[in-house]
Amino acid sequence: MVTASHITHLECTTTGEKVEAGTLHNLSPAGSPLFARYNLDALKGRLTPDSFAGRDAGFWRYRELLPVRDAANIASLGEVFTPLVPLRGIGSGTVVVKDEGRLPTGSFKARGLGVAISMAKELGVTRIAIPTNGNAGAATAAYATRAGIESYVFCPDDTPQTNVRETALQGGKVWRVNGMIDDCGKIVHQGEEAMGWFNVATLREPYRVEGKKTMGFELAEQLGWELPDAIFYPTGGGTGLIGMWKAFDELEAVGLIGPKRPRMIAVQAAGCAPIVRAFAAGEDRAERWENASTAAAGIRVPAAIGDFLILRALRESGGFAIAVEEEEIFDARARIAGEEGLLLCPEGAAPVAAYLKALENGLIGKDERTIIFNCGNGLKYPMPDHSRTLDMHAPIDWESFA
Ligand SMILES: *Cc1c(COP(=O)(O)O)cnc(C)c1O
Repeated sequence: MVTASHITHLECTTTGEKVEAGTLHNLSPAGSPLFARYNLDALKGRLTPDSFAGRDAGFWRYRELLPVRDAANIASLGEVFTPLVPLRGIGSGTVVVKDEGRLPTGSFKARGLGVAISMAKELGVTRIAIPTNGNAGAATAAYATRAGIESYVFCPDDTPQTNVRETALQGGKVWRVNGMIDDCGKIVHQGEEAMGWFNVATLREPYRVEGKKTMGFELAEQLGWELPDAIFYPTGGGTGLIGMWKAFDELEAVGLIGPKRPRMIAVQAAGCAPIVRAFAAGEDRAERWENASTAAAGIRVPAAIGDFLILRALRESGGFAIAVEEEEIFDARARIAGEEGLLLCPEGAAPVAAYLKALENGLIGKDERTIIFNCGNGLKYPMPDHSRTLDMHAPIDWESFA
């Protein structure tokens, strides 16, 4: 049984230039995201389904294909296998929600930041900073505190209150900024020199995507090492979509899965849909979306540095990009909560709305085995009040209850 990281080097996603893995990096010399590469040949046939038996649940079980070399650097808050919850009322029993809201800090940002912050610790970082729409800030604060690292968090001023407050309580120094997430990103970049912090913005360091790719590993393992037909993914920076696409190649290279791939489907809100627009126009890169607006904060990302990687994965997989209206998002949240007993976050309701729309438009078949990502815990978001009042001193009219 092998258990050590098999990372060999980093690689530029545009030029293929190799970069040393054992030192700190943000973007490649060409200004592109860096991907971690592993000695997959050495793992071929040696990393088998049996290798994982007896290991703890949670994403650290994939140690061979994660970058952390010394287990002492792992910052952990009790990561779990996130469950697959079948939906009974839509599709034909073929639609399953992967509920990422069960992770520490209540969102899948725990995967990316758990790994990135553990790596930052391994590489001697003592202070980090991040631009966020909320959940990434909370995960940063929590994992940084766990790792003994100082964290600075910058979010748009209308970021959900829960996110701002949980970030502060978990030790993050947090600022609301009168701009979008990419404006916050500029502040983080500007402060690199003056503040000496390490920038952990989406895809601007190589390891958040390594954490996010574990969604692909976990999904494959949960499905008996066979991938579904389609994945609907709420897409902001696209880390998860890019990460899963990378994960599938790694799994095939080591022999854990075959060549079959799911269609990757990027879901965005109609008020911020740069990837949908670029996909439709046949572009390789996405232009910034002006005046971005959606209550699904996690996917309000006007410009993504990994746009070309998202678009490439969609096209290579035979997938597509689709936008949904605000009303469709909140109708889907109410429907799944009311009919299935499953509370989604707005970003997780968006792919449900997209699935329904795609079904109607014939973009997806009823029999396709489909995974929908609920990316965060529904309890973190405002919900409509439907309560009634009752006067305990007055006679109760039981008939009015029916
Ligand atoms: C960050 C986030 C997203 C977008 O994830 P990416 O992988 O960066 O595209 C979606 N939903 C929620 C709740 C998020 O926090």
